[in-house]
Amino acid sequence: MTMADPVDGRFGDFGGMYVPETLVPACQELDAAFREAWADPSFRAELDELQANYTGRPSPLTECRNLSAELGCRVLLKREDLNHTGSHKINNVLGQALLARRMGKTRLVAETGAGQHGVATATAAALFGMECVVYMGAVDIERQKLNVFRMQLLGTEVRSAESGSKTLKDAVNEAMRYWVAAVENTHYCLGSVMGPHPYPWMVREFHRVIGEEASAQCAALLDGGTPDVVAACVGGGSNAIGIFSGFADTNAELVGVEPAGGAAVGRAVPGIVHGSQSYLMQDEWGQVLEAESISAGLDYPGIGPEHSHLAKIGRARYEPVTDDEVVAGFQLLARTEGIIPALESAHVIAWLTKAREELQGKTVLVNLSGRGDKDVAQMMDIIG
Ligand SMILES: *Cc1c(COP(=O)(O)O)cnc(C)c1O
Repeated sequence: MTMADPVDGRFGDFGGMYVPETLVPACQELDAAFREAWADPSFRAELDELQANYTGRPSPLTECRNLSAELGCRVLLKREDLNHTGSHKINNVLGQALLARRMGKTRLVAETGAGQHGVATATAAALFGMECVVYMGAVDIERQKLNVFRMQLLGTEVRSAESGSKTLKDAVNEAMRYWVAAVENTHYCLGSVMGPHPYPWMVREFHRVIGEEASAQCAALLDGGTPDVVAACVGGGSNAIGIFSGFADTNAELVGVEPAGGAAVGRAVPGIVHGSQSYLMQDEWGQVLEAESISAGLDYPGIGPEHSHLAKIGRARYEPVTDDEVVAGFQLLARTEGIIPALESAHVIAWLTKAREELQGKTVLVNLSGRGDKDVAQMMDIIG
């Protein structure tokens, strides 16, 4: 199967556009604008030029000889950590900023968890000369002070989300509220494959470049072959869907790794949050539960609707790892390969260790979604 476009904004039983009436025209306007731009070769060419000369694409594929020897499987890393601003997030943000400008919007609003999406959005706003407001949970502002300062340096106003768990899901609520009130001149630059249609689809399309590059790079390295397993960490699921989309029509097994404290698929209860139907963590009354993870970037109780669909039809599987396993994975990659991963990406390294028996002799492609600079201070407190 290939990654189909959603029909009526739905991936099987999931997705949709569950928004207040005031936002329906905004979502429809965005859907139409994206369709038109995505079919326009000049839009694609401008985005490609930016991805090459600003982001630094294509990102390399790195063969991990030492880690492979240690684990008994062949590990390849897709190096999204080497992108400008340090993660895959910039792929999506440049696409949306370009689209916003084309739509005549002069301001971006965004939510952020660890601060990576906020930094990427602030970066694009600076590049395009747009105003920018980023909502961040009060707890995350405390955990990720450096990224708050980075956004301010880039000319963005960071606003604290003080409701609920004061983390990512609350920042999304606040950003949506802001968008409702300012939709005339403001584009909501959503940071993952979640939210109402067209976001899960549009954000996937902007990240498809990861899978397309990796597919060609693997073919060159593996004599036209494909890896046995393609694995990525899953918060909302954008880096995972980006790399999966390059391998959906191959025999490669697709594995998403979730934090045990935010395992939306593991708990497999469908519900509606932030504008779409998907699996999410909720209590017996349907109240959304608070996710708990060592990495602010995966601290989200839901997962994008397309992942729910892939899980339901059995095309992808989703595995949990604990915070302790993540800390060990973080250290393992640093020690064996000289690469310090983002804590989010370290979830996948943790899973490689955990699933080592079943992976013996296989070739595993890992999406290294980001670099660990932002997490070094936190890790020093834990293991230093
Ligand atoms: C934000 C982030 C994630 C989680 O987001 P997805 O949409 O699930 O990809 C993962 N890794 C890094 C480095 C991030 O910054």
